[in-house]
Amino acid sequence: WKSVDFPWTKKLEANNKKVFGNHSFRPNQREVINATMSGYDVFVLMPTGGGKSLTYQLPSLICPGVTLVVSPLVSLIQDQIMYLLQANIPAAYLSANLEWVEQQEILRELMSGVCKYKLLYVTPEKIARSDVLLRNLESLHSRGSLARIVIDEAHCVSQWGHDFRPDYQGLGILKQKFPNTPVLALTATATASVKEDVVQALGLINCIVFRQSFNRPNLWYSILPKTKKCLDDIDKFIKENHFDECGIIYCLSRMDCEKVAEKLQECGHKASFYHGNMDSSQRAYVQRQWSKDEINIICATVAFGMGINKPDVRFVIHHSLPKSIEGYHQECGRAGRDGLRSSCVLYYNYSDYIRVKHMLMQGVIEQNPLASGTRRNSLANTERVLETNLENLLRMVSYCENDTDCRRLLQLIHFGEKFNPENCQKTCDNCSKILCLIEKDVTDIAKQLVELVRITGQRYSSSHILEVYRGSLSQMVKKYRHENLSFHGAGKHLAKGEASRILRHLVIDDILMEDVKKSDLYGSVSSVLKINESKAQALSSGQLTIKLRFPTLG
Ligand code: ADP
Ligand code: ZN
Repeated sequence: WKSVDFPWTKKLEANNKKVFGNHSFRPNQREVINATMSGYDVFVLMPTGGGKSLTYQLPSLICPGVTLVVSPLVSLIQDQIMYLLQANIPAAYLSANLEWVEQQEILRELMSGVCKYKLLYVTPEKIARSDVLLRNLESLHSRGSLARIVIDEAHCVSQWGHDFRPDYQGLGILKQKFPNTPVLALTATATASVKEDVVQALGLINCIVFRQSFNRPNLWYSILPKTKKCLDDIDKFIKENHFDECGIIYCLSRMDCEKVAEKLQECGHKASFYHGNMDSSQRAYVQRQWSKDEINIICATVAFGMGINKPDVRFVIHHSLPKSIEGYHQECGRAGRDGLRSSCVLYYNYSDYIRVKHMLMQGVIEQNPLASGTRRNSLANTERVLETNLENLLRMVSYCENDTDCRRLLQLIHFGEKFNPENCQKTCDNCSKILCLIEKDVTDIAKQLVELVRITGQRYSSSHILEVYRGSLSQMVKKYRHENLSFHGAGKHLAKGEASRILRHLVIDDILMEDVKKSDLYGSVSSVLKINESKAQALSSGQLTIKLRFPTLG
């Protein structure tokens, strides 16, 4: 598909320069365009900022007829339309927030002999709920004027993705109604299972897949322990490595954003905050300040980032645990668009897991705007989505707990990509450690910990269980008379942190579960360990062994 001998090649080159002002094509852009213009269904995985829009906007100029683009978010659509109209490309959109009259006018235009639009953007809800739109598309199609169907952010089709949108599942109707119209599905995040889901739900036929490596060699990844003085650590990290440079700090809650921004201002940084509780003019103001370099650092929830195209972001710091590896990868991906070295640092502690889990279960977590669009979930859907979210979160915890494997490898495996860690060149924390590791079978310790959780009635937190296991005589241990248990002190001989790592591993492996609850009226959160019996059974019967790698001297 690389060939430059297609009948449209000359027109492509000319329009790419003249209309879009690009001197060349980015990786895979030409290939995707050639494949879709040859009439094939095409699935494109391209990292954020890779230039997906061009792969349908450029063909729309060259092919006769209208290109239908399904896109999840009205604000993104409006940005695109503004950009297209500036480039003199006739484009329009249909969504529920337009006036009735405006919608009627656009629909009438679709029915007219020669439709003036080259691109028509719609939200997935429109396809799912507007019979009128479908009829107009049929009319367009019968006149041979439906050039191509584009599904942007196609991973929203899949429940396994991190931005599942039920209305995307209805998009299969497009291929049913217009089997010969080429479909172009675009996404920046898709694991193998998400890809399969998307292909199936959209009904793509003999689809050609283009995927680019998701590895970003200029990003340096590390995970640091999050302690009480995390904000001092962040201040110091920035001063030592990126003073006066541009960066994003992702925070979990709105309050955290404000707190972190305030602290950084006190320390002499040009920082501000951005979250979903601000009105749109405030948010636009902060974004403008940031684009113009009047502020360097934005402390934001994941609401910040869609459509952000600043090339010189030198660091992305996670002040708390991201909700999924996909989300984490995408948030980190906002750094170093210009290809220069940039840092991605995540401050992690296990108790953030409990906090995020609780927020997910309460549905109070701030979502990336993609995921929080108009949702009309059935109860069953909601439960399934929560389950997926919790699973994704646990994988993220496992990524953070892993202090031996290459971070790139861990991320890329998640996207179904192979990676040789030697190519990391010590650009992640784990690869740059000079450690000898030894693998230990910790099955017996794991069994003891599970037993301890069982005999204490599945009513205590992980820190309490650890205290008992390590033989502490703290007030709490005495209060419950746990010093009398036979397991009290059974783990005395273990090195510091070892028992706790094994316990966390049991949670990651789903043998133990954190049962999170609000513990008092003031909303503080507590969690007790419960046993997942079927998994625990495998452990106690010897079907399951647990091996972990530990650092050693020599
Ligand atoms: P994506 O949707 O993949 O995140 P976009 O389509 O928004 O990426 O493109 C990201 C940026 O790259 C835009 O500013 C776009 O103008 C620019 N761009 C896309 N293709 C090219 C190209 N061939 N040459 C130069 N710039 C490009
Ligand atoms: Zn590495």
